[in-house]
Amino acid sequence: MVRQLDVFTLPMNVSFRRVGRRQGVLIHGHVGVGEFSPFEEYDDDESTAWLAAALEAADLEFPSPVRDAVAVNCTIPAVGPERATEIVTAPHGCRTAKVKVAEPGQTLDDDVARVGAVRQALGPSGRLRVDANGGWTVAAAVEAIAALAEFDLEYVEQPTRSVEELREVRRSVDIPIAADESIRRAADPMRVKLLEAADIAVLKVQPLGGVRACLRLAEQIDMPVVVSSALESSVGIAAGVALAAALPDLPYACGLATTSMLTRDLVAEPLRAVDGHIAVRTVVPDARLLAGSWPDRATERHWLDRFARCERLLKDRRR
Ligand SMILES: [Mg+2]
Repeated sequence: MVRQLDVFTLPMNVSFRRVGRRQGVLIHGHVGVGEFSPFEEYDDDESTAWLAAALEAADLEFPSPVRDAVAVNCTIPAVGPERATEIVTAPHGCRTAKVKVAEPGQTLDDDVARVGAVRQALGPSGRLRVDANGGWTVAAAVEAIAALAEFDLEYVEQPTRSVEELREVRRSVDIPIAADESIRRAADPMRVKLLEAADIAVLKVQPLGGVRACLRLAEQIDMPVVVSSALESSVGIAAGVALAAALPDLPYACGLATTSMLTRDLVAEPLRAVDGHIAVRTVVPDARLLAGSWPDRATERHWLDRFARCERLLKDRRR
């Protein structure tokens, strides 16, 4: 089948994985449009799940929603306390904040100062979670969680790298543990469940192969789910919103308010948090914005080749 493909590059206003842009391919299908935007360093094998998710969005209707808006959190990168306060009090209305901690080159004092500033800005009724991206050892995690406990954390996301370490931390602290990388980059996402290594599962649509695949995983893993983005354009975010909208239970705010990190988007009305929620709706790419996001020829070639290789891999796997 001939599909219309559009390669895009979008500048970011924060440095992410040491690059200041997000790139990918929009796939226009029978029913809608999907975003294929695996991170640059991911190989074809790992990127195939991302393509499966994009093709699902292009060719199939999303499952029926059970809610018409999704509560979302704001995200505070490893910035200083003043900048952290600005982000929390920006006009997105989010009552939940996720704070990055365990940043390489920073100290526990930096984390305490940032998380303390966020708690101050949120007030006592706001919800506050931290994400270490696997950056702590077990001992460092236990020490840090003890130091941060005074700020009333709703959970700690991926404190350590391995599932075994996650389990050890979980046994040593009273605050719930969420698994992110241990699910989306693991050969077997169910190990987190089997080893009782976490209380909450963070699910991301592209890395896990689509909305339907995530709904199945949520059922199997049988723990509360937080849907997060892979820092997509509004096209990719729409799939995350569709997953969050279709989950039977959604007790936590989701990490989908990330288009604010892009300085441009591919749709005229980006999916953004208003009063702490993102509305459940379809998005349509804007031809002018797309044309303004075309990369140079070499980048376009790189992404079309990547798409073709992953498409072949996916077909082989489904055979
Ligand atoms: Mg995370």
